[in-house]
Amino acid sequence: MSGMHARPAELTVIAGSAVAAVVLTVWLVGGLPGVEVADNFGVAVFAGYAVVCAVLAARASTGRFRGVWVCFAVAFGGWTAGELIYGYLDMALHRASFPSVADLGFLLFPVFSCLALVQWPIVSAGQSRLRLVLDGLIFALSLFLLAWVLALRGVYESFRDDKLVVSLALAYPLLDLMVLAVAGLVLVRAGPRRRRPLMLLTAALSLITLSDITFAWITAEGTYAAALPIDVGWVAATVLFGAAALISRGAPTAPDDTPQLPTSISLWLPYLPLLVGGSGAAIVVLDGVLRATVIVVIVAICLRQFLASWENRRLLRMVADQALRDPLTGLANLALFNDRLAHAMQLRERDARAVAVLSLDLNDFKMVNDSLGHAAGNELLTRVAERLATCVRPGDTLARVGGDEFAVLIEDRADHSLEIAHRIVEAFDSPFGVDGQSLLMRPSVGLAVASPEDDPDPLGEHLFKCADAAMYAAKRSRTDGVHVFTPEMTLEYPEHSGLLQVGDTGAKGGGVAAVQLLGELRQAIDRQELAVVYQPKYHLESSELAGLEALVRWPHPVHGVLSPNDFLPMVRRHGLMASVTELVLDKALDDAAEWAARGTPVPVAVNLFAASMADADLPDRIVSALRARGLPPEALTLEITEDLILPDIKRTCAVLRELRRHGVRVAIDDFGSGYSALSYLRELPIDEVKLDRQFIGPIIWDPRAGEVVRAVVGLAQTLGLTTVAEGVENAETAERLRAYRCDVAQGFHYSPPLSAPAVATLLREETIRPPAPAAVRWN
Ligand code: C2E
Ligand code: CA
Ligand code: CA
Repeated sequence: MSGMHARPAELTVIAGSAVAAVVLTVWLVGGLPGVEVADNFGVAVFAGYAVVCAVLAARASTGRFRGVWVCFAVAFGGWTAGELIYGYLDMALHRASFPSVADLGFLLFPVFSCLALVQWPIVSAGQSRLRLVLDGLIFALSLFLLAWVLALRGVYESFRDDKLVVSLALAYPLLDLMVLAVAGLVLVRAGPRRRRPLMLLTAALSLITLSDITFAWITAEGTYAAALPIDVGWVAATVLFGAAALISRGAPTAPDDTPQLPTSISLWLPYLPLLVGGSGAAIVVLDGVLRATVIVVIVAICLRQFLASWENRRLLRMVADQALRDPLTGLANLALFNDRLAHAMQLRERDARAVAVLSLDLNDFKMVNDSLGHAAGNELLTRVAERLATCVRPGDTLARVGGDEFAVLIEDRADHSLEIAHRIVEAFDSPFGVDGQSLLMRPSVGLAVASPEDDPDPLGEHLFKCADAAMYAAKRSRTDGVHVFTPEMTLEYPEHSGLLQVGDTGAKGGGVAAVQLLGELRQAIDRQELAVVYQPKYHLESSELAGLEALVRWPHPVHGVLSPNDFLPMVRRHGLMASVTELVLDKALDDAAEWAARGTPVPVAVNLFAASMADADLPDRIVSALRARGLPPEALTLEITEDLILPDIKRTCAVLRELRRHGVRVAIDDFGSGYSALSYLRELPIDEVKLDRQFIGPIIWDPRAGEVVRAVVGLAQTLGLTTVAEGVENAETAERLRAYRCDVAQGFHYSPPLSAPAVATLLREETIRPPAPAAVRWN
């Protein structure tokens, strides 16, 4: 925004001053009556007008700009005073001469103009104002040198007698040149917002310089009588200056611009006149070897200065660039991400396109840091950054926004951003090589999309918060996969600590103990020391045994029997999932085969890790494990948690379909704990729905919870699915579920998980009736 639009009143004044200048010119040229007065005081009036404009501008501005206009007011004040004194001397005393006291006033002009310009805010990073003055000096002296060589030398020679007169006459253009040079340098360095008044100012100063040079020339020639062109130049200059001062009023008082790199023109501009003036002087004054040497030296100095400036500029650019990069990974940092996000959000409103933010946090990163050291932690972050970079497209912004937090900005349709999010989750399927170890890291990924119709959010702050909320929801659910933000997710940030840290290990006392426990866990898996217990499931209607759920345990020599919540996070983190699944599956099927051999065949259910769904070989392995033991496929149910379906519905469906094609049963576990679960009932090829225990507990005291369970049971039944209620802890709940026509129940009310020998005893006493096969055919 230019902010420099003059208001009508100011335009009128500017136009009026221009008309007055034309009138004065006509007056002087036409020799109209009173031309003598006009000649003597016309310029004074216009200089006075410039003072008024400068004062008005000073009053309207603050900060540095006020200083600028105050100095200009003094500068033009000096000039006005000089004109008045000169006119008085000429008219009243007929003693107009050059030099005179009036010159004291005139000399104030270049000095204060220079002071004014030096205060003009420039936006180049870290350049001193002294340098500006020195550049101006070099520029002016070089030009003067050139002028001297070309013309002034002769003039000066001809004035051998009155050197003071000619020195002063020459001093004006020299000082003017310096002021003009500073103005030019400020102009190329100033921010774009205030460029227009600055250009007018520079034009005004150019006119003054031109007039003063002419004045000096005429003085040297001794023909000042023909002063007309000079007066016109001065008057026109005051009109331009007045315009500059007036339109700068009402400009924004906000900081002009953010610092930026010096433009390349500002790098070489000061040295151009030195090159020309210096070599010109050398050519004229010197000859032979000396001439060549001086020219070469000047050229070399200019080149060197230019190079130094150019290198500085490059360094500055590098530093500026680095300020926006994360030093460890080389990705964008939070500042750059926020900047790009704000930009994208503004384009969203203009171009009507969706913007998505993906927020990713590494689960248990702290544990890596604590147990393997910070160097390994850093290495891991670098590896993660590299892998993430392969998932995004060239236009997307990938940033590291916190210790183990990453964010991706995607400007594209919502389904494309979801696709990228899935790709990112999949990228974590294989372990990261760190410090000679292979670590499996899981990310918590949240995605939030702002479509063009959504409420304005110019900086994208809200969108970022939504993505974070979705990410925390993912973290809480402890499952893989992309969580897409929904309004039910709270925007409050949960406590960071304790999410997956406490109870991760079952051992207190931090890093070393954790590493030790990990070693013990690997050993326990290798030696098949993990145990499996079985929790019975009963038909609600007949109280017959419907099957068993296999639950893993770790009998630890020191800490006692550890339950899944104590060590499964560690299993996930260190990529031990496949071996644990294999172990549990083998033990459960071995036991099932033995019970079948004793004449009491019973179906068993095994829980699957989320990551297992990505394993295309899983169906084959399971089918051959069943075959090897002579077990029918219906003897096995696989329980998958609802959240794990989220990552890739297509792939999940393919794996499930393959399993069911072979006759293995599939159950959705923890149904009701996640989001948008209902559609899964329709889309997924499953046999059984296990209602989450948090869902079941309240039904005896909360009528609404009861109604929800009743409705879900009814729905599942319509779809031909078996319903299993988890966490049934008392007879009242069981009674209620029976009334709801729920099929199967499991929980402490019936039995805690039992050891294999205890199950063998149980089986001898119970009637076993597997649940009916699913009534629907999925294709
Ligand atoms: P889940 O699949 O929901 O398993 C049921 C959990 O609820 C078991 O905890 C069980 O002991 C507990 N439970 C049973 N009846 C009741 C009850 O009436 N009230 C309450 N409050 N809880 C009850 P457990 O054995 O600690 O297992 C926890 C979770 O660990 C399981 O939840 C399952 O997601 C996971 N898990 C267990 N074993 C395995 C395994 O072999 N492989 C995989 N991938 N995950 C497993
Ligand atoms: Ca389960
Ligand atoms: Ca469950």
